[in-house]
Amino acid sequence: MNNRQLFLNHLAQTTDFPLLIEIEKAEGVYMYGPDGKTYLDLISGIGVSNVGHRHPKVLQAIHEQLDKYLHLMVYGEYVQSPQTLLAQALCDTLPEHLNNVYLVNSGSEAVEGALKLAKRFTNRREIISCVDAYHGSSHGALSVGGNEIFKRAYRPLLPGMKNVVYGSFYQLEEITEQTAAVIIETIQGEAGIKVACQEYFKALRKKCNETGTLLILDEIQAGFGRTGKFWAFEHFGIAPDILVCAKGMGGGMPIGAFIANKEVMAAFKNNPLLGHITTFGGHPVSSAASLATIKIIHEEGLMDTVESKAQLFRKLLVHPKIKNIRNKGLMMAVEFESFEVLKPIIDRAIESGVITDWFLFCDDAMRIAPPLVITEEEIRKACQTILKAIEES
Ligand code: PMP
Repeated sequence: MNNRQLFLNHLAQTTDFPLLIEIEKAEGVYMYGPDGKTYLDLISGIGVSNVGHRHPKVLQAIHEQLDKYLHLMVYGEYVQSPQTLLAQALCDTLPEHLNNVYLVNSGSEAVEGALKLAKRFTNRREIISCVDAYHGSSHGALSVGGNEIFKRAYRPLLPGMKNVVYGSFYQLEEITEQTAAVIIETIQGEAGIKVACQEYFKALRKKCNETGTLLILDEIQAGFGRTGKFWAFEHFGIAPDILVCAKGMGGGMPIGAFIANKEVMAAFKNNPLLGHITTFGGHPVSSAASLATIKIIHEEGLMDTVESKAQLFRKLLVHPKIKNIRNKGLMMAVEFESFEVLKPIIDRAIESGVITDWFLFCDDAMRIAPPLVITEEEIRKACQTILKAIEES
């Protein structure tokens, strides 16, 4: 059996339309198939490889850590410098009140931790989240997800969850003194890149302050430079009470975090009411990779060129079949008439060596989220291939 058959036979399938691209090696913005085929990666494993695949400094940090130790103990017991240095580096990117980091393994786990923390700190049970939100696949994260079709088969989910429309001022009235937290993606990703306005975020922040509700911002997809700022919330002049992040955080290694004020996080400490426990959270190798990733984003000035690169995509991707482009930095959705129109275009682009896909809750839009290290020349080449794919399909 070849690898593709093994994949279909023995690996659990998660979609009716797997991309089925076989990759043997990846470097920078490129991925290479076993047949020698070269692909330009426009999706970064969905916002993971922000610094490019196998960045040499990430590899170096990993190698150095491999030579010291792998796993020693469940999270939160031993003092391990990859974790302490990473926590410090994360806090350095954040407003002063976000000074306490809980390292976990993934986005979903970061969301779980944040929701539990909000309940524990406020002693309230209601959580408000948004229609079309995606916060992860575990039961808690799914409970605050905003897509009914996705949730239906798993009910009953967590009680006390309420959805409001992302960006709706009117629905901020739903936030009351019963509400433990509002969890919201700063930029809605899987909804097809929806960006609320600054006034909305200001009003949301104000309402949370008035009601003693914690604001949880999910920057799992939008963080780590993707929108041109280190954190997407910096565009809107507000800050969360709890920030959740993952994906781009590890430079290709699995890691996530929820970050809050030390006093808020202290709500987890009181025994015998257990807080959150994780065996592998903040794995030393992932933590070392993450620390290197943060340094690379700053040292290589990756955020500085995000806006001009996004503008270049917008300028070049002009075609009668493209109905609209939504973006915040290099988090971009290119909208077509329908999935039936889009799917053959994506297939054709992949055949021609450019990888894109679509969104979980928005299948008429093409995802564009390349490694931030993509050059202008590569953007031109990618756009030419996409336009040709549109013509040919
Ligand atoms: N929140 C957002 C905004 C995401 O985009 C994702 C992943 N697509 C998650 C949470 C879940 O992260 P993970 O897959 O690492 O559990």
